[in-house]
This record gives sequence, structure tokens and C-alpha cells, in this order.
Amino acid sequence: MRAPAKINLGLSVGPPLPDGFHPVATVYQAVALYDDVTAVLREDDPAISVEISGDFADEVPTDDTNLAVRAARLLQAEYDVEEGVELTIRKTIPVAGGMAGGSTDAAATLVACNRLWGLQLSQTELQGLAAELGSDVPFCLVGHTALGRGRGEQVTEVMSRGVFHWVFAIADGGLSTPAVYAELDRLRPIRRVEPPQVRPELMSALLSGRPEALAIALSNDLQAAALSLRPELGETLQFGLDQGALAAMISGSGPTCLFLAADSRSAVDLAVELAESGLCRMVRQAEAPVPGARILPASVAR
Ligand code: ATP
Repeated sequence: MRAPAKINLGLSVGPPLPDGFHPVATVYQAVALYDDVTAVLREDDPAISVEISGDFADEVPTDDTNLAVRAARLLQAEYDVEEGVELTIRKTIPVAGGMAGGSTDAAATLVACNRLWGLQLSQTELQGLAAELGSDVPFCLVGHTALGRGRGEQVTEVMSRGVFHWVFAIADGGLSTPAVYAELDRLRPIRRVEPPQVRPELMSALLSGRPEALAIALSNDLQAAALSLRPELGETLQFGLDQGALAAMISGSGPTCLFLAADSRSAVDLAVELAESGLCRMVRQAEAPVPGARILPASVAR
């Protein structure tokens, strides 16, 4: 399976509900930065296991708290499956980086186990299970560009033209999503917070396919909270702008910083400058949008 990371082009966060969750209006985009998830059938054995390799292997749990394992267990329990699965995840997406790394592994696992266990669940059924696993998991199933309402789990596809070129500055360490939301509540007087909404200029920018239009339409309500917890990220954002990025923003709950480049060549130049700056742990580049978690033919996967 190829499981893409997500970014939020717009993330508007409303006041917290009595259950503590925040309603959001967000525009997601799936980017060509992938975890590879391999799933092998265990025919007469219901065990579910996961092994992790790659850049961030030591930061990911391999017990039942792993989101991919939780996805497989949920399917197994819901449909009384007697078979198991052996999962292997090669991590490329930063962990706790605001790019839905765990959620996309879970989405990929749902699709893989649906096929391996012959469940023949429809996309709509998979979406329902995905929403039980986490707010970003349903988007990771569909990919491309989509509007997310509710807690982000109610997704509808959005028209987007052309290809956008992104550069990611991956920070040392992660940020916990609940901690960033708590910081947002601390920073904002809750009574004055408006219901979440998507900016109309973001939709027109996506339709135009022009990076210059998208650059001025990006927004993230969580940025101030992420910067309050990790002020040094402000320097990374400014550095990218100084090097010619059209826009710089925190990705989701952070701490990954994302930069929009005018074209692929500017993206390469910016990536080199960022890598040499010493301001981040590593730099990645990716085009977007791309499809959601999908099965690769074995010949490509090898
Ligand atoms: P989001 O953008 O959806 O808020 P994130 O990208 O900030 O998420 P994740 O990478 O999904 O965060 O990881 C959040 C936590 O989940 C990590 O601290 C990690 O311990 C745990 N986790 C469980 N399963 C996985 C997985 N398969 N990959 C990455 N992290 C996982």
C-alpha cells in the first residue's frame, strides 16, 4: 500500500464542544510523501502484528496502540474475521508532525485487510470505520483535495486544478495534537470564537490552479498555538519566505513547516537552502494533490 501524508490548506477551528472536541472546517490536500504499508495474510492465525522501519521507526509504537493495528483489529472485531495479518510499515512521514502519518497508515490497513480478508466492504462502509479510528482517517482514504467538516471526518471532494509544489521542513521532535488544541483554547477567549468556515478565496485559488493565488488564501488557526509552544519555528517559516517561498505555514498541529513554491525548480532550490540552514531535522519535497491510500501492483511495490 502507498499511504500519502496530508496537509491542511485552510484549517478553521471553532469553540470546543461539551465533549472537548473542536468543530473544524478544513481543506485537506494529499501530498506525494508516502509511508509504505505491506500487509501479508495469516490464514489460520488471527494474530495481528506490525514491524516498523524507516526514518522515524523508533518513534512509533508496535503494540496495540499503533493506529494500523487498531484499524486491523476494528475490522476483525466488526466482521468476526478469523484470519490475521502481518503488517510492515516503512515510515517516511514525520511522526506527530501534523501530517496525519498514523491516520494514513490506518487508512491503508483498512483497504489492505478489506482485500486480504475478502470482506468486499464498500467505500462508504470503510469511511464509517475510518471515522471511528480518527478525524483524519476518512480523508486519508479518499485523498486528492477535500473539504472536512465535523471533526474533519465528514469529507467531500473539492475541485482543484494543476499541480502544487510543496517543501516540508521537518522539525526535531513532535507536537501532540491535543496539546496544541489546549494551547489554542488558552490563547483565545472562547466566547468570541466564530463557528469554523472555509475561506471562499481558497476555493477559487484551487480552481484557478495558480500557486500565487493559493499562497494568499492559505490559513491555519492552529499556527499561533503551535508557535506559542515552539517559538523557534517562526524562524524556519521566515527563512523559507526570505528564500523565495510564495507562502510559509505550520502544517496542521505542527511542528512541520510547509512552504509553497512557484514551480518544481524553485522547490528544489528552497529545499537545498533549508537543508543547509540547520534550522530543521530534515527537508522533503512533494507534489500535490495525489490519491488516497491505495494498493500498488506487486511489481511496483518491489
Ligand atoms: P495529525 O496530523 O493527524 O494530528 P500527526 O501527524 O501529528 O497527526 P501521527 O504521526 O499520526 O501525528 O502520530 C501521533 C501519535 O500516534 C504518535 O506520537 C505515535 O506515538 C502514535 N502512533 C500510533 N500509530 C502510529 C503510526 N502508525 N504512525 C505514526 N504514529 C503512530
